[in-house]
Amino acid sequence: MPQTSSTVNPFETAKRQVDIVADMIGLNGGVREVLKHPKRELTVNFPVRMDDGTYRVFTGHRVQYNMARGPCKGGIRYHPQVTLDEVRALAAWMTWKCAVVNIPYGGAKGGVVCDPKKMSKGELEHLTRRYASEIASFIGPEIDIPAPDVYTDSQTMSWIMDTYSMQKGYSVPGVVTGKPIALGGSEGRGEATGRGCAYVIREASKDAGVRVKNGTVAVQGFGNAGSVAANLLHDEQGATIVAVSDSRGGIYKADGLNPHAVEEHKRKTGSVVGFPGAKAISNEEVLETKADILVPAALENQITGKNADKVQAKMVAEAANGPTLPEADTVLFQKKVTVLPDILANAGGVTVSYFEWAQDIQGFFWPLEEVNQRLERVMVRSYADVHKVAAERKVHNRTAAYILAIQRVVDAINTRGFHP
Ligand code: GLU
Repeated sequence: MPQTSSTVNPFETAKRQVDIVADMIGLNGGVREVLKHPKRELTVNFPVRMDDGTYRVFTGHRVQYNMARGPCKGGIRYHPQVTLDEVRALAAWMTWKCAVVNIPYGGAKGGVVCDPKKMSKGELEHLTRRYASEIASFIGPEIDIPAPDVYTDSQTMSWIMDTYSMQKGYSVPGVVTGKPIALGGSEGRGEATGRGCAYVIREASKDAGVRVKNGTVAVQGFGNAGSVAANLLHDEQGATIVAVSDSRGGIYKADGLNPHAVEEHKRKTGSVVGFPGAKAISNEEVLETKADILVPAALENQITGKNADKVQAKMVAEAANGPTLPEADTVLFQKKVTVLPDILANAGGVTVSYFEWAQDIQGFFWPLEEVNQRLERVMVRSYADVHKVAAERKVHNRTAAYILAIQRVVDAINTRGFHP
């Protein structure tokens, strides 16, 4: 996975995005300010016993951005470059994301500054349980519900669910989503982000005149979201996957990679690099690959003012959060590239998280077909909603998604009124 650019502060980007839309919808004063501030933030510094018997202090954050529309929702990431401002931005994006797909949540995000690739499973368990204990009073099924994000997974969620439940004295499956099925997870949650992205690409390709069947696709970041999107575009929509990458580099094959074989290679060797028969390329080159569709599925700040002009794809579907900088957006728009913004394109994950939470609260679980059908309905409807605003207002999809989302949050804030 590429490194986050240290020069761009994602929270500045997030606030700029709010201002652009606030100007367009004539939103000023207090509500505009509310949208540019996180509601609550918690930073914790905590010791973790490492395998060699020493203790190290780690820093973690949890930011609850806005809860006007319901409990806060959003993942927890483990990454050496986590900062409070990054977590704030990601929490803001979760707020707009939940509003775009119209699920009854506000937005939150968590992050721990650590390098999970250099930690053992035992160390990760200690870190997760202690972080969960530190934020336990801040989260809960009716307050704030964490989920997996970069370098966290269903095992991480199991430890958080267990730690929280031990404090309560009873099992609370609804405190986190993205759990294994055995602990109250939902069918289909594991692949929901990539699946949702594939549905949005399918719908948008009809309007944008971009071919998916026999079209070519490049995927930056062959992790959970990117690999599932590649598999589904290949298997269900007949696309040719020409390039993929991960943090160690990229691979290219003009006549197509079998994404399942690449996945297997990555499972065995830890990376897509070295996949037999493919040409080695850099992570940056994946973004500039000649392909009909580009799926950035890694970290933020990847498509910038410097490389946007080199993007050759006709469609960019953001499976990652925040991969495109605002100045790059302008360039892509001028080049008539159809951008499917993160808050729409990767909202499948949180949508099935919502289904998981709803199932946990009812204690009644749905079969996979039902989960996928409901997910498809939400993604198809949400894309149509965004496309309608884009056509009516003659703006690109990102602005349209923000108008839709921010208007929904503003309506909730105004309808509730201000306390006291
Ligand atoms: N981390 C995912 C996202 O950025 C999922 C969040 C969730 O399911 O709450 O959308």
